[in-house]
Amino acid sequence: MINTCTVTNTGDKKSRQIIRRAIRRNPDAVIAVTGCYAQTSPAEIMDIPGVDLVIGTQDRDKLMDYIRQIQRDRKPVNAVRNIMKTREFEELDVPNFADRTRAFLKIQEGCNNFCTFCIIPWSRGLSRSRDPQSVIRQARQLVAAGYKEIVLTGIHTGGYGDDLDNYRLSDLLRDLDKIEGLKRIRISSIEASQIDEAMIEVLNRSDKMCRHLHIPLQAGDDSVLKRMRRKYTTEEYADKIRLIKRAMPGVAITTDVIVGFPGETDEMFENGYRFMEELGFSEMHVFPYSKRTGTPAARMTDQVDEEVKHERVHRLIDLSERMQLQYAEQFVGQVLDVIPERDYKGAPGSGLVMGYSDNYLQVVFDGTEDLIGSLCRVQITEAGVNECRGRLVRVLESHGRGATAAGI
Ligand code: SF4
Repeated sequence: MINTCTVTNTGDKKSRQIIRRAIRRNPDAVIAVTGCYAQTSPAEIMDIPGVDLVIGTQDRDKLMDYIRQIQRDRKPVNAVRNIMKTREFEELDVPNFADRTRAFLKIQEGCNNFCTFCIIPWSRGLSRSRDPQSVIRQARQLVAAGYKEIVLTGIHTGGYGDDLDNYRLSDLLRDLDKIEGLKRIRISSIEASQIDEAMIEVLNRSDKMCRHLHIPLQAGDDSVLKRMRRKYTTEEYADKIRLIKRAMPGVAITTDVIVGFPGETDEMFENGYRFMEELGFSEMHVFPYSKRTGTPAARMTDQVDEEVKHERVHRLIDLSERMQLQYAEQFVGQVLDVIPERDYKGAPGSGLVMGYSDNYLQVVFDGTEDLIGSLCRVQITEAGVNECRGRLVRVLESHGRGATAAGI
């Protein structure tokens, strides 16, 4: 089964390569292709000899029925339906994760925004929310299975509740906050336009909400934001950041930025650079604009030269690293709660473990594998760009898998 991506043209190409390789290596297997590329271009995939099943971003609960049908009839099946007509959230429980410390809980699917560079609404459909009772039920199960942190995911997570009666993301957070045994709630990403007073209030009151928000900016110049069809101006974005910082002192704000969007002049880029520097992110994920066929931006005539994009990407990565270090330095000497995720650099026996603090500092400290999944108090001893060093002060709560207090 191959899960495909279509977010850029390269995503399509790589997906095709992997499908062909899978067919070559597994000549007797039933080959099923799913995901976003399958949803947007089923015919292209059906044309690849050896593909048995194409199923997009819905009906995945019917996968086994289709496979049995193919084994019986020996005929390829194109099971992709029009995603734009789908209004229901497809529930697929994920009760276990290879990574034992954080559980990902999908609460929302699709997007109504139609930014001019993005194909996602066409591959995932319009925004729809998972039933609140189902979210709470799954969260309880995850906590019972030993997870201390739940990351709420979605395509447009802040749009949770847009299709529900009088129940929004802030209501869900309030209900999740009541779950006993759950230590941390993290939102994978939220749009600036969706941070309202109710949300700020929850951030302010809950001690389970992580002091970390990922708020995509995409561009720091108003004319670029407008051409991207984003739903905020730089001023509105900055206002939201100020409110959040006031509600959650020490909060880490991370973001995504696209550079070299069609029509972005040097002046617009410099405006953005200054804006990002002033806001002070704790990390930026920087991407060069990449044309996605079928989107309005791909048809814009004033595309930016690749070399210019390259140079701008590097400048913003440098800025991000500078800001990352500045952010981390504030915490040297402080004691933070860290949940170790794995042995340092995946090397068992290194005597070091790595985990994240609630404000998303990656912290490396002395400890053995027994500590993985436990809630630890760690003093930050050294700040770094991508990782900080720390010293274990004590284990607050073990994972419950027979963790010992080694190293205390
Ligand atoms: S809000 Fe995000 S998912 Fe929706 S269209 Fe814009 S970039 Fe794509």
